[in-house]
Amino acid sequence: MKMARLALGIESTAHTFGVGIIDFEGEVHSLVNDIFVPESGGLHPVQVKEQHLSNFSSIIEKALKEAKCSIKDIDLIAFSQSPGLGPVLKVGALVARMLSQLLNIPIVGVNHCIGHIEIGRLKCNIEDPLTLYVSGGNTIVSAFESNRYQIFGETLDLPIGNMIDSFARIVGLSHPGGPKIEKLALASDKYIPLPYVVKGMDLSFSGLFTAARRLVESKKYGKQYDLNDVANSLQETAFAMLTEVTERALAHTEKQEVLLTGGVAANKKLQEMIKYISEEHGARFEVVPLSYAGDNGAMIAWAGVLRYQAEGGHELSETKINSKERMDNIKIPWRK
Ligand code: AMP
Ligand code: MG
Repeated sequence: MKMARLALGIESTAHTFGVGIIDFEGEVHSLVNDIFVPESGGLHPVQVKEQHLSNFSSIIEKALKEAKCSIKDIDLIAFSQSPGLGPVLKVGALVARMLSQLLNIPIVGVNHCIGHIEIGRLKCNIEDPLTLYVSGGNTIVSAFESNRYQIFGETLDLPIGNMIDSFARIVGLSHPGGPKIEKLALASDKYIPLPYVVKGMDLSFSGLFTAARRLVESKKYGKQYDLNDVANSLQETAFAMLTEVTERALAHTEKQEVLLTGGVAANKKLQEMIKYISEEHGARFEVVPLSYAGDNGAMIAWAGVLRYQAEGGHELSETKINSKERMDNIKIPWRK
């Protein structure tokens, strides 16, 4: 029996060099990630690039081994073409173009954000969701309309995950800070008012970040309130902002499904809040399984398969990276 055709996807937009192998029917055969963890400070693109360059070949080998196949069995190479850190995107693009040319395998460049949505639709078995994508590098509310994944709301400054991680770093918590802040917040039910900034459908987190930082630098810190209280207030404020925008987009689009994805989707409090408004509007709520919610190669492979089946591969000249490309610029030929 001939095996279904296979796509190998390479994720390389930020901290993760991920390789996933998926067949054209949507079954995942491997998922291998190598994640850059900064010793101090944020993600330095040059350091991330160096790690990815050192590790890409062992990650690919591991993924092939996990899928019990050889590179010769691969029918399609997909890679994250946009958006992300330029030097890091270049590593994935280089590896993908090299494999494609050396082995004469068709290639498809994928927008990372579309990858997140498509793997969510596949894994949660849903058709047409309103998506809240919250991660270290992105904060986007989107839904499919007029042949595109339209962006209904997004951050004007810091992405939510980055904001929480940056705050965590100030109080001495190691990367990633999100899960640690979640745990601290569970120990408090005190709310200290913090800047809540929603402009139209867009969000701004920098004022919230600065105010939370002032709280832990204040003389009152440790006397009138503690770190648990600040963590709780930070989460409450940020998540209420996300919930407000998601709810308004849901009311406007009247979608019947809501999808929560990205690394921050792991947060139980956020899940609870988005679930609540989804149910209020009679919509089904789904969280992408956590191994697929963060950056990974399978989501790139799957979005690649969809595009390949609808329109074929990209020409080599179309595979240049684009670190700023918005997903609402891209027509989606595989959806009606
Ligand atoms: P990603 O960029 O999609 O790989 O996701 C990484 C981001 O998710 C980082 O900013 C993490 O701090 C964040 N994150 C992971 N788990 C949680 C959690 N339980 N609560 C909040 N943020 C989280
Ligand atoms: Mg991501």
